Amino acid sequence: MKYDYLIVGTGLYGAVFAHEAKKRGKSVLVIDKRPNIAGNVYTEEIEGINVHKYGAHIFHTNNKQVWDYVNQFAEFNRFTNSPVANYHGELYSLPFNMYTFNKMWGVVTPKEAEEKIEEQKKAAGITEPKNLEEQAISLVGTDIYEKLIKGYTEKQWGRPCTELPSFIIKRLPVRFTFDNNYFNALYQGIPVGGYTKMVANMLDGIEVRLGVDYLENKEELDSQADKVIYTGAIDAYFDFKLGTLEYRSVRFDAEILNQPNFQGNAAVNYTDRETPWTRIIEHKWFEFGKDKEGNDLPKTVISREYSSEWKPGDEPYYPVNDERNGKLYAEYKKLADAEDKVIFGGRLGEYKYYDMDAVIASALDMCKTIIC
Ligand code: UDP
Repeated sequence: MKYDYLIVGTGLYGAVFAHEAKKRGKSVLVIDKRPNIAGNVYTEEIEGINVHKYGAHIFHTNNKQVWDYVNQFAEFNRFTNSPVANYHGELYSLPFNMYTFNKMWGVVTPKEAEEKIEEQKKAAGITEPKNLEEQAISLVGTDIYEKLIKGYTEKQWGRPCTELPSFIIKRLPVRFTFDNNYFNALYQGIPVGGYTKMVANMLDGIEVRLGVDYLENKEELDSQADKVIYTGAIDAYFDFKLGTLEYRSVRFDAEILNQPNFQGNAAVNYTDRETPWTRIIEHKWFEFGKDKEGNDLPKTVISREYSSEWKPGDEPYYPVNDERNGKLYAEYKKLADAEDKVIFGGRLGEYKYYDMDAVIASALDMCKTIIC
């Protein structure tokens, strides 16, 4: 065998695994079907702005080991995610906090806000939340659910909130303080110079072949390595033989605008049902809108995100972790466990709504387990 490891995919899982394997003296070949590295964290410089081509990625973690790990490959800025919700032109602070409650109801103290939510939760008759709708109402009440959650979630997932699992909404903090930080994380930031540079540093000195489709050349590629780390979609690996797992796909419509400031914030969520996009990202604000010398950038790049049901040929982004898919995944997982040459990892390989830090932790763990 020419290589100890063939790694399929240059996203965070693949890049971290490749780096660690090489560090432990293993020979590694990394391939990706796209013409660029970095998977969905790929950033491309346009008009001096690092554009998150496959959706906004804000690094945040409570895991000090992961934070120290990524800081070896990039310097992180002090960006703090504070998206704004736009409901038919009414603007609200996210995540749900005292600014949101004040704007929604005019309440001023945490006690008043808690009472308002309790009153709405009671009126809705919810004791044990069974789905996303009930979970949302019991966390923030009916008004916030109707204006800031229902429309956005149904656009994002293409399903009614009553048919979605409640864990999705538990990703968002609810705070009775004046704190617009979207994440409850000790460490947060964006790699200065973009994620592509960070991943390139992880892959430094490693053989990478781009534009290579693993599944189309499986036999030949497999014959070159002892083991395969596969980070693509698990159902695609098995040629969908048990049926297709559902994913949500997203279309990113990017536009360069001849103006310095379009929306004054990196992310604005359109939470009504009627606006066809879910959110608009204005990429320059991830890095404070300045060029390398600190001057204001004259142009801006925005992307509108349109969510849709995944179909063959589209890019899968979000696994739909409901009951049906959970069961089907469990069946695929049995097949995956029976493949002794191949290890499945990452958001698509494990069909899991992973954040970046969790993907990195999981790649580090896997490497420790199977190498040393
Ligand atoms: N969500 C919402 N309104 C918002 C933002 C998020 O209802 O303005 C809900 C929605 O269901 C979404 C979930 O919260 O799928 C998780 O949001 P998050 O921002 O974590 O999603 P991601 O950034 O991974 O797309």
